[in-house]
Order: sequence, then C-alpha cells, then structure tokens
Amino acid sequence: VLRTADYRDNDKMLTLFSREIGRIDALSRGCKKTKSSLLACSQPFICGMYSYYIRQGKYYISQCEITDTFYALREDVERFSVAAYIAEVTEKTINHEEQNEKLFSLVANCFFTLKRENSALSTLVFYLVKYTDISGYRPNIYSCIKCGKKTAKSGNYFSGKEGGVICSECAKDIQSAKKISGDALKTIHGILSSQSKDIKEIAEYEYLYEIKEIYMKNIEDIIERKLYSAAFLDRIFINKL
Ligand SMILES: [Zn+2]
Repeated sequence: VLRTADYRDNDKMLTLFSREIGRIDALSRGCKKTKSSLLACSQPFICGMYSYYIRQGKYYISQCEITDTFYALREDVERFSVAAYIAEVTEKTINHEEQNEKLFSLVANCFFTLKRENSALSTLVFYLVKYTDISGYRPNIYSCIKCGKKTAKSGNYFSGKEGGVICSECAKDIQSAKKISGDALKTIHGILSSQSKDIKEIAEYEYLYEIKEIYMKNIEDIIERKLYSAAFLDRIFINKL
C-alpha cells in the first residue's frame, strides 16, 4: 500500500502497487470500523496478498493476507520519512495496471532494508540513484557532458537537469551546476553497478547527504511535481550535519 485516502465515513481508497499488474486503486469498504477485517490491511506501507473484485469498473478489496506491516518504520521518524518519500515518488510514477517490475523490486527491497536500524539515509540514496536510472534519466558520470573531458578525481560539478557531470571550466556557464566530491561520484557509480539486492552502509554520511541533495532536486524535475514528503524528510535530516 503506497497511499491511503479517506473516503466517505468508513471507507478508504488504497493505492496498491503489485509486481504483476502495477497500480490498482481500490476501495476498502468499512475498513475504518474497529471490527472490520480490512482495518489492519488498509494502512500505508502494508505488504500482503490482496484480493479484489471489480464492479462497474470500480475496484474493491475483498480480503487480505498480510505479509509484513513494516511496523518498525512507524517508530523511527528517520526511517518513516524515507518510507513516506519512497511511497510518494513511486505513487506519482506508476500507472493503472501497467507492470513496472524493476521499480516494484526496488521499492520492495528498500522497504525490507528499512526494517534495519540506521538504514534511512543509505536506503534513500540507493532508491534515488536507482529510481533515476530505471526512469531513464541515468546521468553521465564518466565525462563532462559539455566538452567530453574525462571526469577528474576532484573539482567536478553536477547537474541533474543537464544530465550529469560537468568539468570546472564548463560549469562556469551553467547555473544548475553544483559541486560534487569525488567520493560522492564514486558512491553513485557503485550503486549503479550493484545488484539492487545489496543496500549496505554504502558510504560515509557526508557523501550520502551530498547525493541526497542533488538527486532529490532532480527527481522533482523528473516527475514535475512538488512532493509533500520531501519537505518533511528535509526537516528530519537537516539537523544531522
Ligand atoms: Zn567540460
């Protein structure tokens, strides 16, 4: 469940993301009643086997066998804010009954990783870099996108808008270019070439934070919308540096 929205007195509209058929928006009727069998499964982040039926073109949840509630995320504000952000970006990306298996695997992988303590920032950065890649916006990180000069060990700039790394010379003319450290670039490269199964402590906090800043701006450009969860996430992480 990526999103829930109140609907009438006792119902909720759930946005589900499935491996097989992509996005489904289904009504969970009566789920706000305390005795409802759908109460527990009609919450954000719940993972399970949902059954549904279609009547007059509308989708209704009939039952659910919960696989995981991701309860740990609700008790940790950092991990919760990352989960909310991942859910919102994903929800804004997927289309009705359109399979997107790569994104589904990435999201599932990130949620299960977020169950571990201290996994918030590394999981967020992993998602940001992989999401950009899956969406077809993989930046060029090996050479300057303007003049083609090979990326130097340090002193590089980066612009998601322009599509990657820019050398210090060319960066003078590009407003969206922000400094990026050699370590941050190395980390991005590492994530792009890794299997989406291994999110580890991928780097030092500072590099991760640097990548987070660059990529989160980039993603708002890609999906062309402001994200509510991004502002919340920024408030949580800003105090750590
Ligand atoms: Zn250049």
